[in-house]
Amino acid sequence: MGTIEGRKPQVVLVPFPHQGHITPMFQLGAILSSRGFSITVAHTEFNSPNPSNHPEFNFLLLPDSLSGCESSYMNSLNEILAINKNSKERFHEYMVEMLETQEQHGQVACVVYDTLMHFVDEVATRLELPTVALRPNSAAYLRSDHVILQLQADNLIPLPESQLQDAIPTHPLLSIRSSSAIIWNSVDMLEHESLVELQRHYKVPIFPIGPFHKMAPKFNTSLIAEDTSVITWLDKQAPNSVIYISIGSLAIMDKKELIEMAWGLANSDQPFLWVVRPSSVSGSEWIECLPEGYEELTRESGCIVKWAPQKKVLAHPAVGVFWSHSGWNSTLESMCEGVPMICRPYFADQVVNTRYLTNVWKIAIELEDPERKGIEKTIRTLMRDKVGKELRQRALKMKQELELSVQKGGSSWNSLENLVEFIMSFTQ
Ligand code: UDP
Repeated sequence: MGTIEGRKPQVVLVPFPHQGHITPMFQLGAILSSRGFSITVAHTEFNSPNPSNHPEFNFLLLPDSLSGCESSYMNSLNEILAINKNSKERFHEYMVEMLETQEQHGQVACVVYDTLMHFVDEVATRLELPTVALRPNSAAYLRSDHVILQLQADNLIPLPESQLQDAIPTHPLLSIRSSSAIIWNSVDMLEHESLVELQRHYKVPIFPIGPFHKMAPKFNTSLIAEDTSVITWLDKQAPNSVIYISIGSLAIMDKKELIEMAWGLANSDQPFLWVVRPSSVSGSEWIECLPEGYEELTRESGCIVKWAPQKKVLAHPAVGVFWSHSGWNSTLESMCEGVPMICRPYFADQVVNTRYLTNVWKIAIELEDPERKGIEKTIRTLMRDKVGKELRQRALKMKQELELSVQKGGSSWNSLENLVEFIMSFTQ
């Protein structure tokens, strides 16, 4: 492969520097690397990856001037603006250098960038370098953005309270920037309708080649150290008995919610593996605000850690339910292991994903009452009632269908073949 004699074509990746965005971009890098491309990652100083975990990639450091800035969802708009402003010129210099040395290192085929890193598109347009956008979240989420923008343009927002639960009529979609294609960490069988609608709107090819983590060789992209002792703890639990709880890398809760969760879990009489990320409870460093004696009381049934090897946890036979914030990576990881979910969304795509998980794919229940009684009831429904059994059966069926999608001849496999061919066409 490669148009410059003996050299692999190069693909440059530009991830947005948060866990839920870095992971799919690196997985995509691994997928493209296994298909014969040489991968260079241009990354910010903030949340910079560990190059030693990825010896097959080259790395370029972008200045971002974010050091010391508070990292949270609430601050993410400032982060996005600062990165886009501060990284652009250096990125331009890197690209000029790469283009000048293509003879030695292989032709630069294209830049794949997270759509939040829009400076890339500007630089690449200046240099006449093709770009491909990566959407690390569901197609349904982008579709919902379009609908909201259109409702706004039609002066229909805010909707009257009486209409908040009504289905929204289909609206024409709006336009975006100048990428040559869009890659989705999604699967045709999950999001066929949304993908078809988005394809109709964006005139460029769309490649749903997910779930990336099932298409990519396994490697670690965690920004926080994983507590691997949880696997030994899970080994001691009965099959399908454990509730695994994690709200991802950004969501934050208040102390009252943590305490209600703690009692809801303890009262459910099910074993639980609970990830409480440091600083994820406002005003607390970790779990110091749990009721006195709580850890002693739940010593037998509970395991609380700061960060877990989530994909391995979900694949463990002891795990029966995933209580999640419904981030897109977590959603796909749970689906791929056939684990039904309890959804407690906090913001952004988590709300849309929850709607799909509960109403379309029907493999989850939304936690509507986050107080201890509501939690206990939801857990019991999922673990012990007929409804829970049905959700589990559907989740297992979905797992099998997803397995077929990534196998030779499956939709994601075929879409990847087309993507590779598409990127190669830039080197002709
Ligand atoms: N994750 C993990 N260990 C944990 C909690 C989360 O490895 O204890 C990983 C999880 O596997 C997923 C990512 O962090 O790949 C979270 O991404 P997601 O899109 O679900 O949520 P976000 O963090 O972007 O809100």
